[in-house]
This record gives sequence, C-alpha cells and structure tokens, in this order.
Amino acid sequence: MPLFEYHCDPCKKDFTLLQSSDINKEETVCPDCSTPAQYKFSSFAAKVHGSIKGKAKPVTENDYPNKDVFKLPIPRLRSEL
Ligand SMILES: [Zn+2]
Repeated sequence: MPLFEYHCDPCKKDFTLLQSSDINKEETVCPDCSTPAQYKFSSFAAKVHGSIKGKAKPVTENDYPNKDVFKLPIPRLRSEL
C-alpha cells in the first residue's frame, strides 16, 4: 500500500498517510486541523521503511519557521524566583 506525503499549511507540518492508491487526494484533510491538505508525493511503504529512523530525529530549530523562539528567555517556575 502506498504512502502519501501531505503538507498542512496552518499546522506548518508534513504528514504521511497510508492510503489505498485510488483514494481521492484532493479530499484528504489534515488529521489535526481538518484543513484540506496539500498532496506532495507518494512512495511505497517498503521503500520508506528504512528512513523511519531519520524521520524520528529530535526537533531542531530548523523545524520551526520562527527561529527567534529559541532566543527567548526560558520561562522559570514561580518557585525558582
Ligand atoms: Zn493541519
């Protein structure tokens, strides 16, 4: 069964769905916000299997569109003040 890559604009994220190849891609929506998703490409599950490890890498600042969020001071707990 092929995997389909989609991108969601409001969530600014990519996600992969395992769908039958006769699915209507135009009707696929984001699982988080239900916005119609942008279809990117498809690949077969067997091929993608080897790269799952790479996809599970920790989130870095490159994953954020607004990198300034990393320059903000880290909030402290009230009890630490
Ligand atoms: Zn979304």
